Amino acid sequence: MPLSANNPDRTSWLHVDKHSDFPIQNIPFGVFLTRDDIITIGTRIGDTAIDLGALHQLGYFKGIPLTDDIFLQDTLNDFIADGRKTWRLVRDRIAEIFDAENNTLKNNIEHKKIVLFRLDEIEMQLPIQVGDFTDFYSSIEHAKNVSKMLDYAEVDKDLPKNWLHIPLGNHGRSSSIIPSGIPVNRPLGQSLANDGSHTPVFGPSKAIDFELEMAFVTTDANDLGESIPVEEAEEYIFGLVLLNDWSARDLQKWEYAPLGPFLAKNFASSISPWIITLDALEPYRVEGLKVIETQLPYLKSKGKKSFDINLEVAIQPKGAKETVVCKSNFKYMYWNMSQQLAHHTVNGCPVNSGDLMGSGTISGPTTESCGSMIELTWKGENPLKMSDGSEREFIHDNDTVIMRGYCEKDGTRIGFGEVSTKLLPVYKK
Ligand code: CA
Repeated sequence: MPLSANNPDRTSWLHVDKHSDFPIQNIPFGVFLTRDDIITIGTRIGDTAIDLGALHQLGYFKGIPLTDDIFLQDTLNDFIADGRKTWRLVRDRIAEIFDAENNTLKNNIEHKKIVLFRLDEIEMQLPIQVGDFTDFYSSIEHAKNVSKMLDYAEVDKDLPKNWLHIPLGNHGRSSSIIPSGIPVNRPLGQSLANDGSHTPVFGPSKAIDFELEMAFVTTDANDLGESIPVEEAEEYIFGLVLLNDWSARDLQKWEYAPLGPFLAKNFASSISPWIITLDALEPYRVEGLKVIETQLPYLKSKGKKSFDINLEVAIQPKGAKETVVCKSNFKYMYWNMSQQLAHHTVNGCPVNSGDLMGSGTISGPTTESCGSMIELTWKGENPLKMSDGSEREFIHDNDTVIMRGYCEKDGTRIGFGEVSTKLLPVYKK
């Protein structure tokens, strides 16, 4: 089935700025609250939000097998469960409706009034009800940096000795996944003081960090007991978002052994509100990193399964301009999404529509490409300078952390927009 929505020569009758993340070739999916206080599923072209529920009611998706209320829902879960064939038919139809050559909606003033919104008339919501959240640990440079910092005893090639054999991950909490724009409170918790003491203290975390990640959203994939072969895994991936997996390093250091992170990681994880489909990212496939250690057959992946997605993180102190502190790329992942999903299901663990799978912090080979403060400042030893002259070892109260991502090739740019989150002081009633 050709991906006609990806046609790079197509232009839209809606205005799209030259450097927009959302040209007509993107067609992401999201959920928003309209100016009339109605929740709907929508897409976006340039700076215009499009109500897909209204478009469907007006008959624009005729001929595509969709239930009447598929876009009149609070989440994308049911639409995602319809599967890849339906996603493609819908994306292709949206591209046709908004094609510069198509006058049907363009010339219908009444319909346009119902369907189109300016961005300041809508409020983006969480696009999915996340059933389960898994966070991987698949960037090799990040894993090496953490191994060095924590001084692991059991290392091989600067990595935990299982790392080159298993796409390691852990289960997170879906209850604290929030969309861009929702602030996060500094968490309270236990930590050890730096004076060699063995008795923990309780109080606000003193080391709040971001983790630059991407996450993929799955459709219903397998039944209990069944596994997904690595070469079929992409069939079950709907799309990707940016993910800031907030972390409290001082809490993490005290609690992580022997079972791994717990409260240091589950107080908040922020995602960008538009899901960019895997189909839209098709032109940006690249070879993955060189395989260092022979992988078990169920993990062997062929072809271009990595994606060239430019990523950056900025910190904006209260009342000041933002400072970009990190530039990284999704292509730095050692384990790709297909391998992650094949591994996740190899024991028969079911994956459902609306599950979210984080990549793990994405760090590249240079200092500037490190995807967390603990790496960028090397445990706080080398603070970062902000544009207002202040310094950061970790994130301060009232700082806003902004992550952005985009792909660009042959003049077409497909972007993710941003995930922007303000850190507030400790919660007070
Ligand atoms: Ca993480």
